[in-house]
Amino acid sequence: MTRCGTLVAAMVSAVALGATPLPLSAYDPAQAGISDLQDCARAALAAAVQVGGDDEAGGALFQSADGLCHYTIPVTQHIPTGVDYRVAVPRNSKMLALYHDHPGTAAPHFFSAPDLNLANRMHLPMYVLVVREGVVMTYLDNRPVRDPLTFRGHYEFSGTRSR
Ligand SMILES: [Zn+2]
Repeated sequence: MTRCGTLVAAMVSAVALGATPLPLSAYDPAQAGISDLQDCARAALAAAVQVGGDDEAGGALFQSADGLCHYTIPVTQHIPTGVDYRVAVPRNSKMLALYHDHPGTAAPHFFSAPDLNLANRMHLPMYVLVVREGVVMTYLDNRPVRDPLTFRGHYEFSGTRSR
């Protein structure tokens, strides 16, 4: 249950209209870049677990002008089964992927229909950490990826659990 936007200005106008804005997952200017996309995803998902706890949290990965991967600070709506948010990245950066976690004991270890709709609509890869199993699922080019040579597909996140 993740949706995504990209405009800070949209939030400002939403506030002005009295609507409840979606949380904004913004970039951290002080965050060090990470050269490896997989490592970047792991760092982002670890942050999502910290922020969300038993609730879903997510954000986006982007490549900034330094050529390195950064992640937007994960946000949560304090809902265990979904998170909708918007994303703010610096100018001249390129969106690389979306990420969120599936926490809890009943967390699905598959991409939900909204997950897939979002990834397809945004034409972005998606990383989803199934927290209980310690597994990161990767969605790329409109399909789940398992090829370890291209995207490493599913891999251990924390070593807490094997499949
Ligand atoms: Zn999901």
